[in-house]
Amino acid sequence: MSNHIGVLALQGAFALHVEACRELGFESSEVRTADQLGAVDRLIIPGGESTTMSMMLDRNDLSAPLAERLDDGMPVFGTCAGMILLADKVSDGREDQVSFGAINLAVKRNGYGRQNQSFSDEIFVDRLDNADLGFHAVFIRAPLVEVVGDGVQVLATHDGAAVLCQQNSVLVAAFHPELSPDRRLHRYFCSLPR
Ligand code: GLN
Repeated sequence: MSNHIGVLALQGAFALHVEACRELGFESSEVRTADQLGAVDRLIIPGGESTTMSMMLDRNDLSAPLAERLDDGMPVFGTCAGMILLADKVSDGREDQVSFGAINLAVKRNGYGRQNQSFSDEIFVDRLDNADLGFHAVFIRAPLVEVVGDGVQVLATHDGAAVLCQQNSVLVAAFHPELSPDRRLHRYFCSLPR
């Protein structure tokens, strides 16, 4: 069965995700059109700026095809801005920004503060290989999870807040996993059943 990993490449930190997946031996490519989306088996939505990405999804006629793939259960990994786009409720967003409601979370955009309050820390994720080895998580104007709804599993927390969550085949991280050389989270995502 093919396992082609697409990375939404309209804006933001997409290039390192493609590299990470290729490094793990998976076929991976950038997605900018509905045809390219149709050709992949799973999708990473990177960090960047969720309001800009939302606008560009609309402009590139990708919002409806993406909503359809999410409805069909395509595995998706949203990191930072990607988490915001996949959440059910977004506070402090722009009124016209799309959220796909693919995971039952309420998040606050820029909930950890501004760019100069960016930070990194070790988090621990039970279900990764070598789980006692911390994962170096880089938070950049990250969304803060305010409410974890029914059906969502919290895979890691930081200072009491959920920072890595999963609901069925939807995985979201408040941080930027591609900025760490540790590929365990990408491997985990690329192996989620579909
Ligand atoms: N604050 C950004 C947003 O609203 C997300 C930041 C990031 O992805 N690093 O989309």
